[in-house]
Amino acid sequence: MKLHTFKIGGIHPEENKITAEVKTRNAALPKVAIFPLGQHIGAPAKPVVKRGDVVKVGTLIAEAGGFVSAPIYSSVSGTVAKIDTRIDATGYRKPVIIINVEGDEWEDSIDRSEKLESLAEHPELTPENISDIIKKSGITGMGGAGFPTFIKLCPPPTAKAECVIINGVECEPYITSDYRLMMEHAEEVIVGLQLLMKAAKVERGYIGIEENKPEAIKLLTQLTADDSRIEIVALAQKYPQGGEKQLVDAVINRQVPAPPAIPVNVGAIVQNVGTAYAVYQMVMKHKPLFERYTTVTGKKLKNPGNYLVRMGTTFAELIHACGGMPEGDNKVLAGGPMMGKSVMSLDVPVTKGTNSITILSGDEAHRKSVQPCIRCGKCVDVCPMGLEPYLLATLSANKLYERLEKEDVTSCMSCGSCQFTCPSHRPILDNILQGKGVVMGMIKARNVKK
Ligand code: SF4
Ligand code: SF4
Repeated sequence: MKLHTFKIGGIHPEENKITAEVKTRNAALPKVAIFPLGQHIGAPAKPVVKRGDVVKVGTLIAEAGGFVSAPIYSSVSGTVAKIDTRIDATGYRKPVIIINVEGDEWEDSIDRSEKLESLAEHPELTPENISDIIKKSGITGMGGAGFPTFIKLCPPPTAKAECVIINGVECEPYITSDYRLMMEHAEEVIVGLQLLMKAAKVERGYIGIEENKPEAIKLLTQLTADDSRIEIVALAQKYPQGGEKQLVDAVINRQVPAPPAIPVNVGAIVQNVGTAYAVYQMVMKHKPLFERYTTVTGKKLKNPGNYLVRMGTTFAELIHACGGMPEGDNKVLAGGPMMGKSVMSLDVPVTKGTNSITILSGDEAHRKSVQPCIRCGKCVDVCPMGLEPYLLATLSANKLYERLEKEDVTSCMSCGSCQFTCPSHRPILDNILQGKGVVMGMIKARNVKK
């Protein structure tokens, strides 16, 4: 089997996919569901319900708040308790809608049958109405970044889409939610890809999967055998193979230039496996995005697993379902150990972007003492974006923001490969992120003035 990969940098962290063979279970309904209004990049959604309103599963509770925004649907049935603020997984206090759960009544429009709908059975679906349905569905990228999906389907006039690439890589250690989705709902993921290809008006589709998931590669290859437009691409195991730019490089051998360029500038629209599945659910089953596959994992958890979770369920409830918080010091991450964010409270809810709750034990999370940089260059060798991480970190620590911008800090994808590999245990990424935030603010302010 020929393995493809990206060309610059990369690392090989321990994979720790301890939940890979654990079939997905339905998480229990929460007693109270919390819906942050800013679950995506762009303007927060605007509530269309008020205290005391009765909602069902699938009821629209907040509409898109601008062009780069996405609506939010209730994942539960019950009564709106309040519109308030809460700290979410990013650590910021944000507006939320809180719903008291009463029963489990679904909107009648949602088709809850298991029947697989193929694209051939729906000649009425045109590119325009598929895009329109996706826009109304609230679907955002489900790998973490939270970019509204419909926007990727309408590229800028300077770019032309030639293919859709489904990201089935899941290169972050520990996380297995996409793998389970591919194994348990492969046919729906493929129809989701075909819908995305039709919406984008392209005749080429790819699903990129790392070699550590041979069963998924085999299954999807078999199931796409009769669609010559789709190719399953086996990828070498290397982190961050699932980064958009790295995936485009590995799958179609094209290099996405520095920001503001995006994959479609070289012809590719990249979507996550969960996004393809959600597109199938919305277009074929009229089911908007209100639940997602999430891995709840950690070496010391009694019963780690993969769950289909109603959004708004708190981390605490899911950890309880896995046997409770292990004894001793633990660090709880929204996401995996490389790109996940440590949460301040277990009362934060699962949102559209929560692919994993990862519990690291004190030993795993412990940071070693920081030593001086020995100029070994290892961080430069592993950076998949061709940056000089030690330099970016130093410029950021010294608040030299103009130089930091010139050194292309905005290209940093926060993959953490530099910090992972540094023999002096320097907090390279932490420093870079602080400076990158300032530089992004400078760029935004300049654009507003223009
Ligand atoms: S975190 Fe940024 S600087 Fe560090 S390796 Fe990744 S892309 Fe390069
Ligand atoms: S890996 Fe660490 S010690 Fe080596 S050059 Fe980079 S920052 Fe310095």
